[in-house]
Amino acid sequence: MDVDPRTLKIVYFPHPVLRTKAKPIERIDQVVRDVGERMIELMYEAEGIGLAAPQVGLPWRMFVCHVPSSPEPAPTPSNGTDADLPDANAGPEVYINPTITEPHGLPELMEEGCLSLPRVRGDLMRQPDVTLTWSDLDGTTHTRRATGLLARCWQHENDHLDGVLIIDRFTQLSRMRTRSALRALEKQGSS
Ligand code: ZN
Repeated sequence: MDVDPRTLKIVYFPHPVLRTKAKPIERIDQVVRDVGERMIELMYEAEGIGLAAPQVGLPWRMFVCHVPSSPEPAPTPSNGTDADLPDANAGPEVYINPTITEPHGLPELMEEGCLSLPRVRGDLMRQPDVTLTWSDLDGTTHTRRATGLLARCWQHENDHLDGVLIIDRFTQLSRMRTRSALRALEKQGSS
């Protein structure tokens, strides 16, 4: 695929690439590294904590996350997860060909938004504690277990790689509350 990383920008619902199942990245070359860098830049510009490759129009299994640590100490988890697990990362990270395994604890309800769905926020359930395995930009494989916002961000971005959006997981109430905002986006997209 011929890609100029500098021209990438965030695409919005209902762009069809957001519903595509992304393909694994077979070779981590300079283009992939440049795309990763550009995605981090776009994520910061949009003041998000994560961005997946389909959100910049590329059906690749790759996402970026930067969940800054909260200045307040994390509350003691009440869901049976380990208090020592990280809930943030030290800086922006690029995750290539990620897989999520080993969910622990009871699913939790929390509000989420998405950079590809402006003005749409709603509640959905996620696993509070998951393990992610991925390759970095040097091709090194990593495995890390996390909780809190970092675990949530990983699950949200990983969903994008399978064409799954937050609106698919919203509670019934959130679905109702966001119906008109979603219609407005659909209208904009088709004009
Ligand atoms: Zn999203």
